[in-house]
Amino acid sequence: MMAIYNIIKKEDPQLREKSKPVTKITPNILKLIKNMVETMYDANGVGLAAPQVGVLKKVIVIDVGDGVTALINPELIEASGEETDTEGCLSCPGLLGEVTRFAKVKVKGLNPEGEEVIVEGEGLMARALQHEIDHLDGILFIDKAKNLRKQD
Ligand code: ZN
Repeated sequence: MMAIYNIIKKEDPQLREKSKPVTKITPNILKLIKNMVETMYDANGVGLAAPQVGVLKKVIVIDVGDGVTALINPELIEASGEETDTEGCLSCPGLLGEVTRFAKVKVKGLNPEGEEVIVEGEGLMARALQHEIDHLDGILFIDKAKNLRKQD
């Protein structure tokens, strides 16, 4: 069964909370991940963090065009370079802005099987990883964006 979650918007105070680490990968966590992926695709997004669907747990899903990356308890362990590009967010519909982020990152976390993995990303993948991890700390891209504007 597919389930599409409601994506909460920037005015919702839950988006400003810090998410809690997942201590055990239960069937409910796996269901959360599956439904987050469906919700991300339904909304034509490239990434989604659990707090955006009102679940304050450290879970993110990303697909920048080459398949799903789902990470539990993701943690930035290496970062280099700098890149500025246009960004948006499913919780901030219609808003765009330029955000400067690390150009290359390494992120450590657990995959849905509970194995420790290190995901390396550059370009859009690096950007998506940083954007989604920010959500777990209660940070929105609009906090960092320059030239914040309404999409035409
Ligand atoms: Zn976002």
